[in-house]
Amino acid sequence: MDEQKSNCEENDSEPTENTRACVLCNCVDRSLHGQRELRHFGSSMERATLKPSASPLPQPGNDDLSSIGFSKSPCLATLFDDSGCWVHHWCAVWSEGVKKLDNEELENVDKAVISGTQQPCEYCRRLGATIQCHAEGCLRFYHFPCSAASGSFQSMKQLVLLCPEHIDKAEELGEDAWCGVCDSVGELTDLLFCTSCGQHYHAACLEIGATPIQRAGWQCPECKVCQTCRQPGEDSKMLVCDACDKGYHTFCLQPAMDSLPTDPWKCRRCRVCAECGAPGLLLPGSVQWFDNYTVCEGCQRRRSCVCGVCGKTASPSVDLHCCSMCH
Ligand SMILES: [Zn+2]
Ligand SMILES: [Zn+2]
Ligand SMILES: [Zn+2]
Ligand SMILES: [Zn+2]
Ligand SMILES: [Zn+2]
Ligand SMILES: [Zn+2]
Ligand SMILES: [Zn+2]
Ligand SMILES: [Zn+2]
Repeated sequence: MDEQKSNCEENDSEPTENTRACVLCNCVDRSLHGQRELRHFGSSMERATLKPSASPLPQPGNDDLSSIGFSKSPCLATLFDDSGCWVHHWCAVWSEGVKKLDNEELENVDKAVISGTQQPCEYCRRLGATIQCHAEGCLRFYHFPCSAASGSFQSMKQLVLLCPEHIDKAEELGEDAWCGVCDSVGELTDLLFCTSCGQHYHAACLEIGATPIQRAGWQCPECKVCQTCRQPGEDSKMLVCDACDKGYHTFCLQPAMDSLPTDPWKCRRCRVCAECGAPGLLLPGSVQWFDNYTVCEGCQRRRSCVCGVCGKTASPSVDLHCCSMCH
């Protein structure tokens, strides 16, 4: 269960039919959102009482924040195998009703999974949400990736989530809510929380953004690991995506880069061609990008065949300043 992948291939393969996914957030083991590893939890339910399902589980999401959890209530029998179910470490630990026993084992994860099948997430509106706002009487629930994406406050030490509406209560947590740079609570809505060490930082104090994709699975500068090999690395070898703030080693990319680029860099997940709509992950890694990763190689080639005067496409062989059609 804890085996570490040592290869440095880019994590871009499409999920296959039997890829194991978390039955709460529906993401795979090596997800971008900082849920940690998938763990197997036993179930106290009789498997025989679960009706066999006609419909299989939906394909695990592709780490896109729009495909966390489930659009329809999943049939219980698809969520549990003979002895239990698979849930990420953090998705389980944060779930309402789950208790940590003295031996570090968790209790009631199966019950949380069952209640999650009926519980929509406040952020993405999909089912599988089990993390409730700590404020008394607040009925907002989140998936683990969505709790960070929504801008909620999270204390990893106390396992407390406060939804954006009740974020003011974080001040009562004292030091636990302080920014690692300015040592104060400051603007609570600007705080990002590191999914590795739990330390909070103001986006402004680190001069980064605080968009949902930056917040989900965010790692502070000290904890940042490469999303491909899961290892830390020297700053001079770690590329940080301008859009999602995730790290990638220059040598783990395909093709590998020799050094850090001077211009802002975007990871393949964050590249989308503005002309043809192709997402970076579906194009080969060797494809070149233009205009700050907003135009794919194919569209750039097509674009450079458009006459600057009449806007019509000329054959690539024609001199582009004056195509045959407008001359
Ligand atoms: Zn999960
Ligand atoms: Zn959600
Ligand atoms: Zn709340
Ligand atoms: Zn600060
Ligand atoms: Zn950290
Ligand atoms: Zn790496
Ligand atoms: Zn990115
Ligand atoms: Zn394109």
